[in-house]
Amino acid sequence: MKLIFLGTNGWYDNKIGNTVCLLLESKKYYIIFDAGNGIYKLPNHIKSGKPIFIFLSHLHLDHIFGLHILPKFKFKNKINIFCDKELMKPLKKIVDHPYAMPFREMKINIQISELSKDPRKLPFHVEHRKLYHIDPSFGYRLKIDGKIVAYCCDTGVCKNSVYLARNADVLIHECASVPKFFSGKWGHSNPEEAASVAKEARCKKLFLTHFSANKYVAMKDRHTAQKAARKIFKNTFAAREDKTMNI
Ligand SMILES: [Zn+2]
Ligand SMILES: [Zn+2]
Repeated sequence: MKLIFLGTNGWYDNKIGNTVCLLLESKKYYIIFDAGNGIYKLPNHIKSGKPIFIFLSHLHLDHIFGLHILPKFKFKNKINIFCDKELMKPLKKIVDHPYAMPFREMKINIQISELSKDPRKLPFHVEHRKLYHIDPSFGYRLKIDGKIVAYCCDTGVCKNSVYLARNADVLIHECASVPKFFSGKWGHSNPEEAASVAKEARCKKLFLTHFSANKYVAMKDRHTAQKAARKIFKNTFAAREDKTMNI
């Protein structure tokens, strides 16, 4: 399975990143977590007609701004967008006039659905749980091609992120805050907190992403975060955009 970070920033774009978007390419599907600005690079990676599944964590704009970029895509792949039931109504309100082209007018093959509580309803196993964030935000756990992949963004440390990440081959966790900074009730994580989740959940590998654009202005800032996290969980990597990795 291939993993490519298309966007790795939180809040806004800067010279080292676009807002958050992650692409997983499995044998039969393209799977995307969050639709920040980085989604504009998607056509560089869509090389076959496999269906696309987009899972949204929440509705903060840095995670959904890219939805209004979808009409530019020329590929014909079916796009299935999923989010929790709680997000559905406000999502349809934002992706509509007078803010954006509504889904129903996009000339692409697209379907929006709410996630079922039953993880077997999709062609691969998907579980989602509410995380710790100022507005409702959901993390994911996927089982596909013999791997467990967990995605927790945006969130502070909570029981559900550890639950979703248990024994994961790969955990992708947000790292909005810099080392030793605690975000409090807004609900974000610093690198040490993300690493503590990976350790407690006995993950094999941790990727840090969703670096706040105002705090992480150069790659060296991300390396500092990686170093801080590695003291707690050795197999940690700060995400870098547009690099294809095999997991
Ligand atoms: Zn965010
Ligand atoms: Zn958020």
